[in-house]
Amino acid sequence: MTPEARAAVMADVEAYCQELRPIEELCYVERKPNPAIADLARKHNILGIPVPTKYGGRGADSLTYARCLARINREGTGPRTFFSGQTSIGQYPILRYGNDAQKDKYLTASCKGHCTLAFGLTEPDAGSNPLEGTTTFRKDGGRYLLNGVKYLISNGSIADAVIVFAFDKEIGTPGRRMSAFIVETKGATFEKEALHSKPGMYTADTAMFQLNDHPVPAENLLGELGNGFRIAMGTLISGRLSVASGCLGVIEDCLHEVCEYGKARMQHGKPIAKHQLVQDHIATIEIMRATADAMIERAALAKEASEQNPGDKGLLADADYKVAQAKYWASNAAWQAADRAVQVFGGRGWSELYRPGRHLQDVRVCRIYEGTDEIMKLKIASKVLGGKEWEAFA
Ligand SMILES: Cc1cc2nc3c(=O)[nH]c(=O)nc-3n(C[C@H](O)[C@H](O)[C@H](O)COP(=O)(O)OP(=O)(O)OC[C@H]3O[C@@H](n4cnc5c(N)ncnc54)[C@H](O)[C@@H]3O)c2cc1C
Repeated sequence: MTPEARAAVMADVEAYCQELRPIEELCYVERKPNPAIADLARKHNILGIPVPTKYGGRGADSLTYARCLARINREGTGPRTFFSGQTSIGQYPILRYGNDAQKDKYLTASCKGHCTLAFGLTEPDAGSNPLEGTTTFRKDGGRYLLNGVKYLISNGSIADAVIVFAFDKEIGTPGRRMSAFIVETKGATFEKEALHSKPGMYTADTAMFQLNDHPVPAENLLGELGNGFRIAMGTLISGRLSVASGCLGVIEDCLHEVCEYGKARMQHGKPIAKHQLVQDHIATIEIMRATADAMIERAALAKEASEQNPGDKGLLADADYKVAQAKYWASNAAWQAADRAVQVFGGRGWSELYRPGRHLQDVRVCRIYEGTDEIMKLKIASKVLGGKEWEAFA
């Protein structure tokens, strides 16, 4: 992408964030979904930041997109999670594994705001190990019929189409393989329910849905039959980088907030930012910001290198590893940064009326979704130990 195109998309993201902020703050304290997250994204033409321009996207490289997500997440993990669902794990698998017709149809519609996307891998009994899933499909003439339940899905009750993973053989059969489908959500055979009992992220959609003999046209099989696990794992590299990038935004916003508040708030006759122990919080948040930023940059470059050379397994493994490191580090750093920012704000910190308290509530999930801390560590350790044969899952 050209420097001009990069500057233009960053400017549009900035304008989006400024317009979103007052609406987001009101929706958050009222604990209600924020429809402006998507509506303003359409207005500012940022519904497909890394999608090629021929489909209506902005054609951003991985690093530019990471910077955009960091900026968006300064407004909250909820809005950024919408973008992860729509783009990082929604548009991305279609772009990477879809055929021309699927790209034309779903990328174009989603960039225009006509099709909200989601990614449905997790099930009530299959989280860290998606191979324990029980959603099934069977062929029925020129279509597939899907059955099963997907749980904790970002954008799951607002999506027009979901990337759904399902198995083709009897549950428990050795050798059964997972396939991926682009599933449109229209019709009574797709039942959805938004999940509200969550400590934070009130403005964004998290949902479950049930497929009851839900029909999917044969042409909506994504990639090859039986290739779903590879698609899911490849997509999660993109999703994890989006989470890490968002967490950088949390740290940046916490840093901004503690500097502003620390200079303005007077106690013991001076601004609290002049107290050495408050400076310890500020210095630590800055170190978290700088290290997370560096790790995200190297992870984004590794992901970009892998995408430029799709057949290179070494580059894919390198991207997987560096993204896992960045996701682990940035989500833990953001959690600590938000905790320290709450401390600097004192009693006001422990309130949803101020940004640190909201970040603290929201960002905790980043150590869980798109692969938990523990799963990231298993990936990192097996790579360091020598590769696949050292995987603890086996
Ligand atoms: C707000 C939110 C949004 C989400 N959005 C999506 C989405 O859009 N799409 C989607 O598909 N999913 C989504 N998820 C699901 C999320 O990815 C899962 O919650 C996550 O992968 C963990 O799965 P689980 O909750 O089933 O936990 P489990 O897998 O049951 O894990 C429970 C605990 O056991 C640990 N554990 C499990 N296996 C091992 C192991 N082998 N070694 C060591 N420790 C282990 C885990 O690390 C964790 O601490 C979302 C979740 C949330 C909360």
